[in-house]
Amino acid sequence: MARERTISIIKPDGVEKNIIGEIYRRLEAAGLEIVAARMLHLTGEQAGKFYAVHRERPFYSDLVSYMTSGPVMVQILEGDDAIDKNRQIMGATDPAKADPGTIRADFASSIEENVVHGSDGPETARQEIAFFFSDDQICPRTR
Ligand code: GDP
Repeated sequence: MARERTISIIKPDGVEKNIIGEIYRRLEAAGLEIVAARMLHLTGEQAGKFYAVHRERPFYSDLVSYMTSGPVMVQILEGDDAIDKNRQIMGATDPAKADPGTIRADFASSIEENVVHGSDGPETARQEIAFFFSDDQICPRTR
């Protein structure tokens, strides 16, 4: 298993529900380590750029409005198989299809307001890490 880094975002509905700690607990219980974190309120420009891959989708403007509706908590997770592991803990995009016990099954209210984001592959993870963090904001564990 490769040691990887990935981006996790607690979206505005997750921050509103006050479950940052509960989400961190689940990620840490799975062996993932937070090596950087920041809270920010995305601008429309930032959210639009972050989700540019969905530019042509009918839900794009709703997605940008949702992602700018409140602050988000962004973290870099590090660990064995971190990208897939985070996606498994999150559950499927549509909470109705998410496995029981996943974050989205437990907390998401719709296919849009689904509480968390996770990078979907190594290249996306690399791009998303650079989108939110500079190298000197990342703290590799030394113990
Ligand atoms: P993810 O990787 O599981 O987050 O899913 P996607 O990359 O496919 O979609 C990005 C985000 O867009 C999702 O997490 C949802 O917040 C939103 N989204 C995806 N599909 C839909 C949809 O069919 N309708 C709406 N309103 N939002 C969607």
